[in-house]
Amino acid sequence: MTLATIQAAESKLLLQTYARNPYLFVGGHDVYLTDENGNDYLDLLSGIGVSALGYSHTAITAAIRDQSSRLLHTSNLFYHEATVELAVRLTEISGLDRVFFCNSGTEAWEAAIKLARAHAGHLRAQGKQIGTRFLALEHSFHGRTMGSVATTHKQKYRDPFAPVMPGVEFVRFNDVADLREKFSNEVCGICIEAVQGEGGIHEVSQEFFATARELCDSTGALLMADEIQSGMGRTGQWFSYQHYAILPDVTTLAKPIAGGIPMGAMLCTDEASLAFTPGMHGTTFGGGPLACAVAIAVIDTIRQDHLLAHVQEVGGYFKEQLLTLAKRHDCISEVRGMGLMLGIELHSAELAETAAAQMMQRRIIINRTSETVLRFLPPYILEQKHVDIAIAALDEILTLSTAFAATSSAGEHANG
Ligand SMILES: *Cc1c(COP(=O)(O)O)cnc(C)c1O
Repeated sequence: MTLATIQAAESKLLLQTYARNPYLFVGGHDVYLTDENGNDYLDLLSGIGVSALGYSHTAITAAIRDQSSRLLHTSNLFYHEATVELAVRLTEISGLDRVFFCNSGTEAWEAAIKLARAHAGHLRAQGKQIGTRFLALEHSFHGRTMGSVATTHKQKYRDPFAPVMPGVEFVRFNDVADLREKFSNEVCGICIEAVQGEGGIHEVSQEFFATARELCDSTGALLMADEIQSGMGRTGQWFSYQHYAILPDVTTLAKPIAGGIPMGAMLCTDEASLAFTPGMHGTTFGGGPLACAVAIAVIDTIRQDHLLAHVQEVGGYFKEQLLTLAKRHDCISEVRGMGLMLGIELHSAELAETAAAQMMQRRIIINRTSETVLRFLPPYILEQKHVDIAIAALDEILTLSTAFAATSSAGEHANG
């Protein structure tokens, strides 16, 4: 099937939930995706932060081959050893005590929400005064199911489905006074992405994060860190909260956890975990042998290949190059992020859209988020030479588009 045939068929057969880019990929290797004509595209997006080891990585293909030839699924009615092997690794790298496995980001976040509610109920049963409300941050993104969407800031994602889960209030980003004012013992959980992804690569401040920790400690509310985009090494630490030396009570993982196989996980402290008893929460597929085997391979590869150090190094280089680019182009107002979770803020949504589209035409995949932000979430195996290619292309595109914008607005003036 050609791209045009697929486009025509999809427009009739699928719910129209996505505005896809007109590209068709049939394969991939290393940091490249390959289209139907055999052209390679340098991928600086990793399928929205998923393909952390790039494409066709032998550790992943071997894990899939081995596990799929033995056993794919048994359900959570029975034991298999990969759940434990993966949980050992996840608790080691996170500093948390226990894991609940599921199949996607929103499902992990939904488990965190339910845990915070159940945990507050558990505390009330012991005579403590604690409510059922949540605080979330402006520009947050936690997923698309009813609970996750309720803690997601953008109204466009919530309003068509109203009423979503009630009891969520949004705090101004990094506004410590607003956080203190909105917090009370009515709150059972504070929802934080230490580095916001969809919201446009914004880092919470040390003071804001520490205040959230302190407030939760004062009442028994849970500090919930969503690491679905920023976790598993993306920022150069296993979890972005580790840059702050703050341990949350709950964290969530998904996107890169199994290198492209769908999987999610919610991790928490022993204390928080007591709120869930057998039968209270569950999933059919979650923590199946295949996803666990692949996630183990991903963690072991990140460790063996020293990819955290590599992400810090190449990410640091990438950010430096973006900062240099920002000095040359007034249209870049800010460079943000850490490790290989980076973004640049452009002065207009139109320019950001054009720049992303023109990068695609040059066979470099980037993404625009939050209207004006170009987002970079490349595979961890990215190298400096790839950064150089991307920066050179961006430099040219921004030079051309701003020159074009200047001449066309000069033209408008002349006409007006
Ligand atoms: C992508 C994302 C989610 C939702 O994950 P899905 O797998 O799409 O459900 C939740 N939180 C954050 C921070 C994300 O980036």
